[in-house]
Parts: sequence; C-alpha cells; structure tokens
Amino acid sequence: MDANAVDTSMTTNMTGGYDIEKIRSDFPILSRKIHGKPLVYLDSAASAQKPKVVIDALVSAYCDTYSNVHRGLHFLSEASTDAYEAVRGKVAHFIGAKSGDEIVLTAGATMALNMIAQCWALPRLKAGDEILISIAEHHANIVPWQMVAEKTGAVLRAFPVDEDGSFNMTAFTDMITARTKIVSVPHVSNVLGTVFPVAEMAKIAHDANALMVVDGCQGVVHMPVDVQALDADFYVFSAHKLYGPNGVGILWGKAEILAELPPFLGGGDMIDRVTIEKSTYALPPHRFEAGTPAIAETIALGAAVDYVQSIGMEAIRSHEQDILSYAHQRLSAVDGLRLIGTAVGKSGVVSFTMDCAHPHDISTIIDNDGVAIRAGHHCAQPLMDFYDLPSTARASVGIYTTREEFDALAISLEKVNRIFA
Ligand code: PLP
Repeated sequence: MDANAVDTSMTTNMTGGYDIEKIRSDFPILSRKIHGKPLVYLDSAASAQKPKVVIDALVSAYCDTYSNVHRGLHFLSEASTDAYEAVRGKVAHFIGAKSGDEIVLTAGATMALNMIAQCWALPRLKAGDEILISIAEHHANIVPWQMVAEKTGAVLRAFPVDEDGSFNMTAFTDMITARTKIVSVPHVSNVLGTVFPVAEMAKIAHDANALMVVDGCQGVVHMPVDVQALDADFYVFSAHKLYGPNGVGILWGKAEILAELPPFLGGGDMIDRVTIEKSTYALPPHRFEAGTPAIAETIALGAAVDYVQSIGMEAIRSHEQDILSYAHQRLSAVDGLRLIGTAVGKSGVVSFTMDCAHPHDISTIIDNDGVAIRAGHHCAQPLMDFYDLPSTARASVGIYTTREEFDALAISLEKVNRIFA
C-alpha cells in the first residue's frame, strides 16, 4: 500500500456504533490549533486529555460543594465527604473489586507502588529474598523495589521479553524460584504495548507463594479490568491517564491483605485514637490516607470513570485496536522507520525509531505540524538498554484517536525524512 494512501475500509466516524466525532467534541482541547495546525494529540500514554464532564466536575467540586472531608458536621463538609467517598464505590465497580473498602485513594500509581513496597515488602523481606519484575517496567515499578532491596538485602531481578516485545512465559517461569516473594509487572508496557498475561502470572506467582502486584497504568485505560478475575493481590493506576485529573491514583488491594498492612504515612484522618504515648489506626482504606486528600480531583475521577463507562470499555478497546493496527500499517510504510514492540494483541502505544533522526528531533520537527508525540526513555531506561537504544519516539492511542491522526503523523514523519535526507 502506498505510504500516503488512506485505508478507507473502515470509517473512523462511526466504528461499530463508536461515535468518534461525539467523543472528540467532549474534549475541549482537541479543537484547538497548535502552530496554526489542528492538534494531533498522540501522547495520551503520558497523560490523557480531559472531557468537559471531568473539568465541570472539578469546577463544581470547588464552586458548589467544596469543604474539607470527613471532619465537619456542616452541610458542605457532608456534601463534599459524600461525593468524595462515593468515588470508592464507583472505582470498585469499574475494576470489579469486592467493595469500596478495597480502594485506597493515593496521589497516583507511583505513590501506590511505593506504598506496597514500604508497607508490605519492607517488613517482610529478608536478605536473599527475590523480587521479580520484567525488563519492561516503568521506573515507578523498579525504584521502589530497589529502595526496599537496599534496606533488606533482597535481590531485584528482571525477566526479559522477546526481541519483538512479546511476553515470554519460559523467561518468566525460569526466574521464579523458592526465594521469589513478589512478582510485580505492568498490565501493559508503556513502551512496547505488550499485554502481560497477568491472570496466568498471578496463578504462577501464588503457586510459588509470592505476592502479585500489577501496575495497571496502561491497562485499565484500554480494556475492561476485573481485579477479582485477574486474582492479583494489588492493582494500581493513575487517574490522569484515565481522562481524570492529576494528583489522584488508585491502589486496589485484597481486603485481607490491606487489613494486615501498617500505615504508610502518619497524620490526620488515618487514626482511630491518638495519645501522646501511642496511636491506634483506622481500618483500611482510611488507614492509608493520612492528611487532607485531593478532594476535588478525586470527585472528578468519579466523573472520568462514569464517562468511560458510558462509552464502554469493550467499545473503547475495539476502537483503539482498530486504530493501533492501522497505525502499525501506516507507520511501517514510512522509510527507515523501525517499530519497537510488535507483540500480538498489543495495546495502546506505538514506539519507533527512524534511521535519519534522533527521537527528540523527530518530536520537535513534527510538533510544527501540530503533532504531539513523546520522545525519550519513557521512564524505562532498563528497557532502552535491553534494546541498546538511547530513546524512542512514541505515539499513543486514546479513546479520541482517529486513523486520520496517524495519517497526519506519517505525513509529518516523511517530512522528517526529507529534512534529513
Ligand atoms: N507505570 C506505568 C506503566 C506508567 O506508564 C506510568 C506513567 O507513565 C507510571 C507507572 C507512573 O504513573 P504516575 O506518574 O502517574 O504515578
């Protein structure tokens, strides 16, 4: 197929009832121009844009119901508390948790992973114990474990992926030993798009008596998630990648595991009784939520969950899979472009390099055409080392992404080729 030809076998306006025009119109920022060109936003894996309903919920939380939560007996504090606490139930329903009590509201996935490392791993690990991750981790799923390993003498190990980015079951099981105490992997790699078989991995981890942690940042945004079916012990994600605000994240943990954990931070809201000599702590999830939380942002996360559920995660998945396969086909036709990560069934992102230019130059040049992609190590330096690359360019897909946007990217990348020729 000619590199600039557009495959019209499937229209982007209505894919199986997926009303892309309506969805795009829900996001105010998508109608703006960048350098005089229509914005082509292909950086949702870093942070997704926000629909008006989320922005409105944020504004309303400040304009209509704002007050601190949990502590007041006046009208606004109760309204604010009700709206804030309702989000736990919404998120629990969204990811198939047993109840809102299993939903810990954090500042983001990074904080959630640090919490698991500090509260579960630190008191339990001993010298020689092993923490098993993959080579495709975001730094948020590496550094917290290194910090615990340094303090306990535990060893952090990483299993490789195949050259094309595919998960390799043998590589994983070969590295599980009697000393493995924790397996922590991404649901979906933020660089390769590889979908890890987390349910199968959780079974193997549990058979080895290891804890199973899933970094769901790039998973929950692209596909339906049922944490009970996955049967991991923890699943974490950030609101800002799910079309919600910054500064909020979710730590889901099995109730019986949360019940055993000590607090993460100490302060207001997480206690039962405090005397100068001693404090006793609230039950989960409040035990892990010291201090005034991100109230309005959490309420707006609830609006984001309602929003994606109104479209349907299955519908989102099938729309995005269509866009992703088109993106692969379209970008493969660009001269000198190498795709990094082509595992079957991959999701969400297209990473690539070009013979002619450094990813930073690519990103800067195509920005002139209004095309926003990410270039760098994507907080996955060990994976860059694995591929012997300093960085890659990465285009990512969201619920509002169209085939035409990948046409625009491909045309812009051909321009990069011409500039460097
Ligand atoms: N894990 C993955 C796979 C990610 O993609 C990211 C963010 O890019 C994170 C963890 C960290 O998320 P946050 O910075 O929102 O805490």
